[in-house]
Amino acid sequence: MKVFLGVLLLMQFIFVAQAQRVCGTTDYTQKLISSDASLKNAYAIAEEQIEKRTTNNISLTARDTSSDEIIYIPVVVHIVYKTANVNLSAAQVLSQLKVLNDDYGYSNADKINTPAVFAKLAADTRIRFCLAQVDPHGRRTTGIIRKYTSIDAFSAQDAVKSSSQGGDDAWDSKRYLNIWVCKMFGRTMGYSSVPGGPAEVDGVVIAYDVFGTEGNVRSPYNKGRTATHEIGHWLGLKHIWGDAVCGTDGVDDTPTQQYYNYGCPSFPHITNCSPDSNGAMFMNFMDFTDDACMNMFTYGQKLRMRALFAKNNLHNSFLGSFACDSTLAQGGPIATDDTVAAVVVPQVKPSFTVKVYPNPVQSMITVECANATSSGIKTINIFNVLGRKVFSGQISKQKMSVNIADFTKGIYILQIEEGTNRLSTKIIKE
Ligand SMILES: [Zn+2]
Repeated sequence: MKVFLGVLLLMQFIFVAQAQRVCGTTDYTQKLISSDASLKNAYAIAEEQIEKRTTNNISLTARDTSSDEIIYIPVVVHIVYKTANVNLSAAQVLSQLKVLNDDYGYSNADKINTPAVFAKLAADTRIRFCLAQVDPHGRRTTGIIRKYTSIDAFSAQDAVKSSSQGGDDAWDSKRYLNIWVCKMFGRTMGYSSVPGGPAEVDGVVIAYDVFGTEGNVRSPYNKGRTATHEIGHWLGLKHIWGDAVCGTDGVDDTPTQQYYNYGCPSFPHITNCSPDSNGAMFMNFMDFTDDACMNMFTYGQKLRMRALFAKNNLHNSFLGSFACDSTLAQGGPIATDDTVAAVVVPQVKPSFTVKVYPNPVQSMITVECANATSSGIKTINIFNVLGRKVFSGQISKQKMSVNIADFTKGIYILQIEEGTNRLSTKIIKE
């Protein structure tokens, strides 16, 4: 009997090993700490930032997030491929972006599967993702980079994030979420950096066959939830069981559960440390269940994620990233998907220069074209940090004043156009 039980347990173990989700984030973070002990402190500081913000009601200031402001995250997808099947179509990439926006908005079609007792905790995080429209040099981009590699498969050790190691270097991680898509070693489906890690390896790596919902995706990880889960880590979320038996994820409204779940349990799924008869929240994106089984983040998880964008916190710089708006790119047509990595847009040197003052400004801002030989009509546009146009006017003389007393405090982009010439400058409204 004992032998039989042993075999049964072994069989169960093999079954679990084959069927469960494989997220490399926890191992990856531990390895980074063991190679650089100072990172432990950096991670602790990030955690402190998150906790402070989620538990204290810190007063909001202009460049802090307002309570339900939509936070836009420009994404750059680095497709690093050796074989054609890894070089995913733009449609497959876009299908992943749609999943992210649905899941983080709790507008996913399968939210109807959230049990009622948990649905009241489910949150629209008010975080949204776009493919970057502007690259770090201010040029237009599709947000998709295709890079051939001679490497067969990548492990969770960051080579894919480095051009010199056969991968592709990150874009500025203060303004972009870098996602690398590649063939991964073994069964690892993805991993993410966690807040506080080194900037040059900041971002998320996803195996090509679990990315998006169409094209080269494999069941049961064909609904784009691997990226939803890994980006959750990038935004400071922990596994829902806290990576320990009956551990904590630092979130108040996710019930304690004994360990991870896999496959798709039926509700209610009671574990040894379930606080009540509702059991484990196995449909949370931070568990290990199948893609079709997951459908929610909680309000508490939303607070943790948004805490990173608060004033002085690690992702605060994203509030000033305007890379979601193609009208803020200078020069050049939008590159086609296939040529984006190679395209080089010549920088047009505008035929005029401009002075904008005072800056910072409280009410009247003066825009002065400093080049006397330029007399054409120029258009002045002012955009907020979300890329929305909040002012448009024309100037035919040397100088023009714009009253922006009614603008909310914060950073704006002032853009002046004449024909194909365009200049942009940042202004701060106080
Ligand atoms: Zn994970």
